[in-house]
Amino acid sequence: MSSSSSSSSSSTNDLSQLSKPTVWHEFTPLANEHNAVNLGQGFPNWDPPAFVVKSMEETVNVKGTSTNQYCRPQCHLPLAQALADDYNSRPSWASAGVRVDPATNVVSSLGVTQIMYIAFRSLIKKDDEVVLLEPAFDIYAPQVLLTGGTPRFVSMKTDTEAGDTANEVFQVDWDALEATVNSKTRVLVLNSPHNPTGKIFSRTELDRLAGIVSKYPNLIVFSDEVYERIVFDPEGSPHISFATIPGMWERTLTMSSAGKTFSATGWKCGWCVGPEKIIKLMADLQQWVNFSTPTVTQDAVARSLVKARSPYEGHPNFYSWLAADYLKRRDFLMKGLEEAGLPAIVPAGGFFICAETGGLKIPDEVYMEDSISAPDPMPRDYAVARYMTHTDPKVAVIPPSPFYSKENKGEAEGYVRFCFCKTDDLLEEGVERLKGMGAKK
Ligand code: GLN
Repeated sequence: MSSSSSSSSSSTNDLSQLSKPTVWHEFTPLANEHNAVNLGQGFPNWDPPAFVVKSMEETVNVKGTSTNQYCRPQCHLPLAQALADDYNSRPSWASAGVRVDPATNVVSSLGVTQIMYIAFRSLIKKDDEVVLLEPAFDIYAPQVLLTGGTPRFVSMKTDTEAGDTANEVFQVDWDALEATVNSKTRVLVLNSPHNPTGKIFSRTELDRLAGIVSKYPNLIVFSDEVYERIVFDPEGSPHISFATIPGMWERTLTMSSAGKTFSATGWKCGWCVGPEKIIKLMADLQQWVNFSTPTVTQDAVARSLVKARSPYEGHPNFYSWLAADYLKRRDFLMKGLEEAGLPAIVPAGGFFICAETGGLKIPDEVYMEDSISAPDPMPRDYAVARYMTHTDPKVAVIPPSPFYSKENKGEAEGYVRFCFCKTDDLLEEGVERLKGMGAKK
């Protein structure tokens, strides 16, 4: 993540790279092996809220027309209904004139990971291109390859002079994007709030993106919004769904899930909301893949979505509490990173912070160490993240280079990613260890 930016394409549909372990296979076991405080992989280390757990208990106990049997393959109707009601009640969706029909505009699957795969599989034909804005979550490019498309990468510019927030630091390189999108571009993947940076794309940025999209009638935007409920300044930097930008509903698949919102990443319940024509393609395809998605999880999520609208812990609804709770954790970790001498970029949403590690000095020999997932030669961010996890300060972090294509991995070398979806005791212990870290210049 230097100040440069670039665009490149993956030259091959070689799938052999996909059999390698990934950063996720490496860092949580490494953390466990060395008793590190795990601020790496982003999963909450607490239980889902009681009303969510209760929803699952209720659903498995439904008698008669049982939630324990197959459901309607496209999406369990109560879930589609709860989602449609939620989207339709958002002022930005209503004012955009968008109306989600539960019967035709919603398809569910096993998390956004699977629904995105189904979406790529439904749309991509040989020689189609998919534009990814880097850093980009590491499943996107492999999914494009698996579905026969060609990923094309446009790296965001990293300008640390522009300010200290992710929204300021990470900027779309519009010239590179315009030069990369072409008539073969079938899909562009947007992720806001963004993993790993915490950037939330502004209305101005989304309008500009819509301007590019409108020039290519064949182009569909996949909008990964799994962190949509974890937004720290809803007035100043609101989450805006790309589907609500004028003219974009017909061109957008909005994807989200219950994992982050309800601290239930293992439930793997995700969905896609979009125009009927594409949703039908996806539902038709899915019946040959998994036929239907687990009814109990969808039913429990539907119940949870309804309950989440009620006042919660002194907040007008669960979502307001969730964002406030994460804001406290974000601020605690930001302060800890500052005190530890690691300059960090303030996220506007999500539960990750990217911090600069340029000031850390780690022994040269760690670059030679075995890593099950690092490319060869091992990028600096990988070496730093491994050293921080296994030796000093024994705090697990994630190197951001897996979020970049081969050509752009250098952008990540001066950073590591911390997560703050962890209980107070872990965050406190993590911050304590970071302060005592001996690798500082
Ligand atoms: N989305 C989470 C993260 O970025 C978890 C990723 C994963 O385990 N595949 O940390």
